[in-house]
Amino acid sequence: MATCGSLCCDGGFDKDGVSTTRTIESCLPLPLPVEILEDIVPKAKDFAILHGAGMRYRTNYDPDSLQLAPFFLLPSAFPRREFERVVKLQSIVNILMHRIAHDYQFLKDALEKTIKVDDFTRRLWDIYTTVREEGVSQEMSLGLVRSDVMLTKCQAGCCELCQTPPFVTVHQVEVNTIASGFGHMGPISGSINRYVLGELRKPELLGHLPENDALAGLCGGMIAAWDAYGCPKAVILFVVEDVTYNICDQRFHEYEIRRQRPDIHVIRRNLTQISQQGCLTSDKRLIIDGDEIAVVYFRAGYEPGQYHSEAEWEARLTVERSKAIKSPSIHYHLAGTKKVQQEIARPGVLNKFLSDSEAKLVSQLFTGLYTLDMSPEGDQAVQMAMENPERFVLKPQREGGGNNVYGQEIRTVLEKIKDSQEREAYILMDRIRPPIQQNYLIRAHEPVKLVEVVSELGIFGTILGTAKDIQFSKFAGHMLRTKLSSVNEGGVAAGLGALDSVFLF
Ligand code: ADP
Ligand code: MG
Ligand code: MG
Repeated sequence: MATCGSLCCDGGFDKDGVSTTRTIESCLPLPLPVEILEDIVPKAKDFAILHGAGMRYRTNYDPDSLQLAPFFLLPSAFPRREFERVVKLQSIVNILMHRIAHDYQFLKDALEKTIKVDDFTRRLWDIYTTVREEGVSQEMSLGLVRSDVMLTKCQAGCCELCQTPPFVTVHQVEVNTIASGFGHMGPISGSINRYVLGELRKPELLGHLPENDALAGLCGGMIAAWDAYGCPKAVILFVVEDVTYNICDQRFHEYEIRRQRPDIHVIRRNLTQISQQGCLTSDKRLIIDGDEIAVVYFRAGYEPGQYHSEAEWEARLTVERSKAIKSPSIHYHLAGTKKVQQEIARPGVLNKFLSDSEAKLVSQLFTGLYTLDMSPEGDQAVQMAMENPERFVLKPQREGGGNNVYGQEIRTVLEKIKDSQEREAYILMDRIRPPIQQNYLIRAHEPVKLVEVVSELGIFGTILGTAKDIQFSKFAGHMLRTKLSSVNEGGVAAGLGALDSVFLF
């Protein structure tokens, strides 16, 4: 069997194009022998479920049982240089998002047209302007953000970053400022893959899997915000969906907070319950069922379907009016919209928020982002997308996966909306084509399958502060989701994507 060293250093990604990475394979040739698979797969499944890699059943929901979350047997190759680059950049990305969130004029200019046609974003905007006009009662915000990136082919010598192998670089898919999940599932995926490599008697490979303290990092952010609030009896509120399928991920956040700080309690409520049980005192303290809330952590509230009626919108407004420290506060939520992402990528914008050297580093993460507003620039983007739909992704202002438009459907959608302001609800983005790898997909009740996959790396960051004063901005761990290379989007819950971890080379 080949040793890892020289092959890994050679790159693994073929410099000529959309190549197949063989790096982990050079250490662990695929396919694995059947008898090894028959031994390792049940062991890996047990390890996964016993360490909380589970989800609630979507069909036949049963609060008393868990289904194995889909995962990949082996970690996926990721160039160390690119990994370390995005890790290092995360604290700057946090600061960028923090400053954008606190720049009213920037948000207003960026979203002005969008909110005329996108009702959901408009409602968020209305809450923002309402609390702004009333006078903000909590100046401090907690950012628990996740910057998602994908590897992309880089022609040798096409930019400063690809002078040396591997000839790949990362491009940012988006930055999430609300409900950035997988703080538990990220590290657990690494544990599963470590366990598997150990059982395969490959301990020499373990050094390729980086440490991952995402859960501790994100919970540390919430604890710091709780401390800043300064009321020993107050609790942390998790705003949750009516039914939480990704229950392990959420609950482990709760347990980690309790582990680090037994004096802090967590309560969970959905927006409907907050509308029934929540109230504000005259000095804007948020009280739910007798508990004062120090910190609000939104794991829901990012999609229209989570606001069933005016009551849920009222609940969101009540939370925003309160002096609880919110993650995200409403302006942070708005800063994470796709439209704002596109406006940030305009030439010169980063320089308004960051130093020149920081702006340069962050700009290297960006791929092409285009406005679709009713301007000549927007017309040009529409035409470009109609001519070459395979090169782009069309994105509405939505979160949570499954909302984007790809390929020929871009043409169909644009054909309908290209002459109306409706198109301003969307942005256009270059489609990133990550290198393809092979891995074993393990799903509950299905035979293990060797499949072709692509990965998306999420880098977590925490930041706490006011418009003027940032207390800290930190990198807080990572997660890797991998999906079949043949699908456009691969949500883990939707079953097309699965948990994974990085194998650095
Ligand atoms: P959401 O907020 O719903 O997660 P994303 O922008 O992350 O929206 O898009 C969802 C998924 O679509 C991503 O996880 C990724 O798989 C795919 N995707 C999004 N943008 C691109 C892109 N520019 N190139 C390739 N795939 C993309
Ligand atoms: Mg998102
Ligand atoms: Mg996403």
